[in-house]
Order: sequence, then structure tokens, then C-alpha cells
Amino acid sequence: MKSPGGVLQGRVALITGGGRGIGKGIAIRIAEAGADVIIGDIDRDSAEQTAKELGANYERAVALQVDVTKKESIDAVVRKVLKEFSTIDILINNAGIMFRTRILDISPEEWENTLLVNLTGPFLFSQAVIPLMKKSGYGRIVNISSSAGRSVSTLGGAHYTATKAGLLGFTRAVAKEVASFGITVNAVCPGLIDTQMARDSTSKEELEMFIHSFPIKRLGLPEEIGDLVVFLSSEKASYITGASFDINAGGLMI
Ligand code: NAP
Repeated sequence: MKSPGGVLQGRVALITGGGRGIGKGIAIRIAEAGADVIIGDIDRDSAEQTAKELGANYERAVALQVDVTKKESIDAVVRKVLKEFSTIDILINNAGIMFRTRILDISPEEWENTLLVNLTGPFLFSQAVIPLMKKSGYGRIVNISSSAGRSVSTLGGAHYTATKAGLLGFTRAVAKEVASFGITVNAVCPGLIDTQMARDSTSKEELEMFIHSFPIKRLGLPEEIGDLVVFLSSEKASYITGASFDINAGGLMI
């Protein structure tokens, strides 16, 4: 339930890939913290379902279909958001895809597609939203990378690891450029989180094996990523930028 006077009261947040999985967990926690929420997802049905669930309990929640790989699609979404809300204060670049393909079998198309969703998407969305944040003098961008970006992917192929490591570099570079406008840019690096992406890419036995190897012996929950994202999106995190946060059951300690 909504907490009156929550840390994100009065803010407007857009979450890409917010229809399900980690994006949905983040959207729930951001809505609980009092922000208006825009669920942007390529899957219109899941976006609408999530927005409906949030709208029934919290502040305004709107679903908009968006393909983060296409600038026209992002620009159209930003225009629609601005008709209803005055700005976008918080951008969560969460939409991502993962393939387990080994290096010699990755086709140029699969390589390109992974780069487009995982890296070009956050670039295009940040470019579309930073001018609004500069105007209002407040902005929070949180990029959902992965333990893969800090080391190497448990499940994904070289393309997945490359994009998630690239996203950390992108986070630092943009953070440096926009800090003077009151905008912070940080990255969150989850380990194995209980979502369709994780469950679709591995067998039950393999998943158990991974869980057993972690100091904290369970999968993470999407809302646990959401708790960290809420903090990074709030005023309380105004001295943190260009940073990457591990949240991974202790599966990777560096
Ligand atoms: P998920 O369950 O597959 O959800 C991802 C959502 O993003 C889906 O609704 C998907 O829609 C949407 N999406 C895909 N391509 C898109 C595009 N071009 N434009 C807009 N939306 C798009 O994945 P998840 O596990 O929640 O992962 C979310 C993020 O966390 C990803 O960046 C992932 O790399 C990262 N992550 C996940 C884990 C994990 O263990 N789950 C660990 C580390 C990092 P469709 O299903 O219709 O494609």
C-alpha cells in the first residue's frame, strides 16, 4: 500500500520493460514510494495489466507500448507522457534480453539485437529524457545492468556480458556529464532474480545448482531490486552518481 509522504511523492517515473519481472518489481516499489508511474514495455498486455494493478492501489499508473530499440517509438512515448505529466523525473532503463548462445554460434543478427535492446535502448531513452531533467533541475537515471557486467554472466553469452559491461561504462560517462544539472546516473547489478527470463533460460536442476553455490541460498525477488532502485531514485541518494551496486546473494564479491 501507498505510504503517504513516501520518498518519491510528486515524482514521475518511467520504467522500461516494466510489464513483468524485475521491471514490475521496480514499478511496484516506486509506486509504493508515492511516484506516478509509467510502464513502458514492448508487450502492451503485460504493461496494461501491471498499470491496472498499480493504479488500483497507488498514484497514477499508465501503460505505454514502447520498443526501446527505436528512436521514433521512444520519442512518441515521451510526447504522450508530457501530455499527462509535466516531466519525467526518474528513468529506469530495465528492458533487456539474454541469450545463452556460445561465441561460435552467435549470429550477427543475435549480436546486433542484444546490443540494440541492452545498450542502444538505454542510450536512446537517456538522450530523450535528459533535456527534461535538465529543465527541471532534478533527474535520476538507474540502469539495470547485471553481475555479468561486473564479471561474466552465469547464463548469458558473450553478447549479454558485453552489453551489461558496456552499460556500466555508459553509466559512468553520462553521470559525469550531467551531474551539474542535478541529475544522477547509477547502475544496479542483479545476480539471479526470480523472473521469466531466469526461469526460461535454465533447467530446474541447474537453477538449484546455482542457488546452492550462493552464500544466500535463494533467488532474488524483483521487489528487492525495486527497494534499491527507490533509494537511488530519491533525494537521499543525491551524493551518489556513476556508481554500480551489486545485489546478488553474495554470489559475486568484488
Ligand atoms: P524479463 O522477465 O524477460 O522482462 C523483460 C521485459 O522487457 C519484458 O516484458 C520484455 O517484453 C521487455 N522488453 C524486451 N525487449 C524490449 C524492447 N525492445 N522494448 C521494450 N521492452 C522490451 O526480464 P527480467 O529478468 O525481468 O530482466 C530485466 C532486466 O534485468 C534486464 O535488463 C536483464 O538483463 C536484467 N537482469 C536480470 C537478471 C535475472 O536473473 N532475471 C539478472 C541480472 C540482470 P517481451 O517479453 O515481450 O520481450
